Amino acid sequence: MVREIVRTTGAGRRLPQRGTAELVARRSVVDTALAMSRRGLSPGRSGNVSVRFEDGILITPSGLAYDLTTPADIVRVRIDGHVPVGQLAPSSELLFHLAVYRSRPDAGAIVHCHSMHATVLACARRAIPAFHYMVASAGGDDIPLVPYATFGSEELAQNVAEGLRHRNACLMANHGQTAVGANGPAALALAEEVEILAEQYLKVLMLGTPHVLAQDEMARVVERFASYGRNGKA
Ligand code: 13P
Ligand code: ZN
Repeated sequence: MVREIVRTTGAGRRLPQRGTAELVARRSVVDTALAMSRRGLSPGRSGNVSVRFEDGILITPSGLAYDLTTPADIVRVRIDGHVPVGQLAPSSELLFHLAVYRSRPDAGAIVHCHSMHATVLACARRAIPAFHYMVASAGGDDIPLVPYATFGSEELAQNVAEGLRHRNACLMANHGQTAVGANGPAALALAEEVEILAEQYLKVLMLGTPHVLAQDEMARVVERFASYGRNGKA
């Protein structure tokens, strides 16, 4: 009998042989989570990352330090929420990741983090208006704030899914921010942009009342972004 081929990971977990596509997808979750952490966007062990894969998603495990996370640790979950046994516990925010993928068929990846300035604004319960044209990188003329609900709850899942129905990023009251993208690097790049905008907006608020761009101007910028920066490299 042929023995099952396994890979031993740094953490000692065994990963039964998988298709190349799944290994690539698991690696992209790890790389995105590690980059999020190294860029200082997720203090402590906060935040989580997922990608859509086949009939479900691949998501970071709950509470595991990112520099110790290997592809074998990433948790596979069906889109109906079923978690096959024999895996680590998925992120406590599994419900909102699933809710966003269900309501946004175009979403390929989700990055959630407690980045400093976005979280400060979210705790002050301030959405980010169109104080800078780059706000349009989230897909509209603001970066909305979704209402507070307990982490991991179905209520938070509904709030985040609603906030991301017409935008690619939102702030979460008394919590942090979440961004979606076609893939891990795109979702992370948007989360990073949201963090930069949050920091800029906070500084502008210190000077007085920001000048907010008009809706028709922001609609023009959103349209331009659809064809901006196509130079071939990610
Ligand atoms: P997890 O480690 O369970 O993903 O939780 C982190 C987090 O940010 C909860 O909102
Ligand atoms: Zn969180």
